[in-house]
Amino acid sequence: MTDFSSLKLLPQILEAVTKKGYTTPTPIQEQSIPHLLEKRDLLGIAQTGTGKTAAFTLPIIHHLFSNKVKAKPARMRVLILTPTRELASQIEQNIKEYSKGMGLKSTVIFGGVGQRPQVQAMSKGVDILIATPGRLLDLMGQGHIKYEQLEVFVLDEADRMLDMGFFNDVKKVIAKLPKERQTLLFSATMPKDISTLAQKLLKNPVRVEVTPEASTVDKIEQIVMMVDKTNKPLLLESILKDKGIKTVLVFTRTKHGANRVVKHLDKVSIPSAAIHGNKSQGARERALDDLKKGKIRVLVATDIAARGIDIDNVTHIINYNLPEDPKNYVHRIGRTARAGREGIAISFCAGDERTYLKGIEKTIKLSITVDKNHEYHGAPAQEVKKPFANSVARGRIPKRSPKKNTAKDGNKGSRRPRKKTNT
Ligand code: AMP
Repeated sequence: MTDFSSLKLLPQILEAVTKKGYTTPTPIQEQSIPHLLEKRDLLGIAQTGTGKTAAFTLPIIHHLFSNKVKAKPARMRVLILTPTRELASQIEQNIKEYSKGMGLKSTVIFGGVGQRPQVQAMSKGVDILIATPGRLLDLMGQGHIKYEQLEVFVLDEADRMLDMGFFNDVKKVIAKLPKERQTLLFSATMPKDISTLAQKLLKNPVRVEVTPEASTVDKIEQIVMMVDKTNKPLLLESILKDKGIKTVLVFTRTKHGANRVVKHLDKVSIPSAAIHGNKSQGARERALDDLKKGKIRVLVATDIAARGIDIDNVTHIINYNLPEDPKNYVHRIGRTARAGREGIAISFCAGDERTYLKGIEKTIKLSITVDKNHEYHGAPAQEVKKPFANSVARGRIPKRSPKKNTAKDGNKGSRRPRKKTNT
């Protein structure tokens, strides 16, 4: 087995990696680092959790330190474009750890916070800039960003950029970059738009693929629990009562859904926090920090907010709502079983989510085991009167008339209005 020392990285970097507790490179690191040190372009098909951040940051740090050049005001030598602010902060954090004491300057640029400190940091020039596309474009427009000294461009999580509607912004940034540069593109999946972009962007790239497209990580145990919509809060609560479940990410479809779950858990004394687009940067960071430090065990997130967040030791993923897009299922469960650890993904499936389940199973080419051994299994509301009635008695969920068991009954009187889907 290869170890880090055979990768010809600078001794300072090897030392930092050892300090992080990495003993052997992950497959993407082993396959990418030698080529990146030779300044080749790279197309990396890999999801978060495979060690891809170190795969690209270690050779970048090696290059910057071995060829020191001072960045002029507003300039950077390396630009890393990433879809979310959490991911941007994590990448910067990793860079700082991997390059400790090497005198490299890095900074992050993302929206949702004041721009002044970002402008100030750029006014002195940096070695590495990690940015999300929207704010970067803003600052480019204001003349705070110049690309003449750019040597390396990394486009991270390209498919997510596409999903989040950032693709045009990304293209506008790319249009301003110098043609002479090293380019790295990472994406978990390869939809047509991304492969077209990759063809335009990359020159004779090395292609490294660590997990087949849209496949799930082997080590994750996946189960599905059939449950009526109204019983989801109780099912979640009963699962989380098991203290053996240490660090849990719960995914909901909407921001409001995430807030509702947190509220319910709060009522039954299970501390949790939500992260989604309506939360301030400070609130998101606090939530992540509380989870990392073990102050809370449960983080409730929407797909976009959770994308790319790097939390070690996530033991369980709970899909409170099944995602409509099967790719999101793959991304979600990829939050556990990171860098070789094992994890469990539990999906709640209500009657109206069965088509999503079918789509997911088709995509992952697996039929997910149905766990029938829970007290809310499968039944529509009227057949599980007892727990529903109990919970009302205990004041856990608001009293409402039980629904008829007819998904397509057109019985308007018993149906609640559809919630707007906004992630
Ligand atoms: P990433 O895919 O970059 O988000 O990395 C996922 C997780 O794997 C992070 O928590 C890293 O700290 C960790 N990691 C990265 N490289 C290694 C390695 N060679 N050995 C063990 N853990 C690693």
